[in-house]
Amino acid sequence: MAGKDKKVALVTGGSRGIGAAIVERLAEDGFDVAFTYVSGAAPAKALEEKLNKAGHKVTAFQADSADAAAVEGAVEKTFSQFGRIDLLVNNAGVAPDAPVDDVPLDVIDRTIAINTRSVFIASRTAAKHMQKGGRIVSIGSCLGERVGFPGVSLYSMTKAALVGLTRGMARDYGPRGITVNVVEPGPIDTDMNPADGENAEYLKTLTALGSYGQGKDIAAMVSFLAGDGGRYVTGASLLVDGGVNA
Ligand code: NDP
Repeated sequence: MAGKDKKVALVTGGSRGIGAAIVERLAEDGFDVAFTYVSGAAPAKALEEKLNKAGHKVTAFQADSADAAAVEGAVEKTFSQFGRIDLLVNNAGVAPDAPVDDVPLDVIDRTIAINTRSVFIASRTAAKHMQKGGRIVSIGSCLGERVGFPGVSLYSMTKAALVGLTRGMARDYGPRGITVNVVEPGPIDTDMNPADGENAEYLKTLTALGSYGQGKDIAAMVSFLAGDGGRYVTGASLLVDGGVNA
């Protein structure tokens, strides 16, 4: 793929963790990649520089997923800068953990805005620019299917909503040849959920494999869905959770 023939991906929250692994993988797969961050300018710039030095075309820009106008702006900026959008990966997310009785209203609103509303808005804005073969992949959670422990009601709600949204959008965009899927990770070693964090030993016991996954495990599923092998997969919720929900 070269120049304007190269496919273009936008990844939200690509500066660290799972998002950064997805950005790297898609660049290696041959995509030109735009990605967003909210406050991590330094890691975003470092990733951008590293991949551009390796001969890829990668651009980072700041856009808060809590802000609907910024989300639309990120999609439009990607389109105007790269001339096309083939793949949107809705990855940015936050995970406030608190028992349902204690979650403040502003945290409820902000979490819904970042984890759910931004996915709705980014997807419909990106879909306007997509051709047949376009792909939308959201990063949900195994907690969007089953909830095995307390303290994560808000987070689980926002991720379960992605399952319904994915199914609905698969129907809305199917006639245009655009696929829509949600990838549902289990415990993945990132700043959000470090493999040496205080809950890590417990979370490992919930998996069938007895271990954490890596960002690259999620990136591999995104890569599959984005490629030719994913062309007949749509409306699906794909667990990559080490067997948490087995
Ligand atoms: P991290 O906290 O390690 O990284 C989050 C990324 O999202 C960063 O790039 C961050 O940018 C960005 N981000 C956060 N808030 C915003 C915002 N308001 N606007 C734009 N970007 C934002 O998280 P993970 O990599 O662990 O998680 C990625 C996704 O995977 C999330 O949706 C999460 O819910 C999901 N997930 C993670 C699991 C895990 O065990 N790690 C398990 C299941 C699902 P910045 O650097 O600027 O802060």
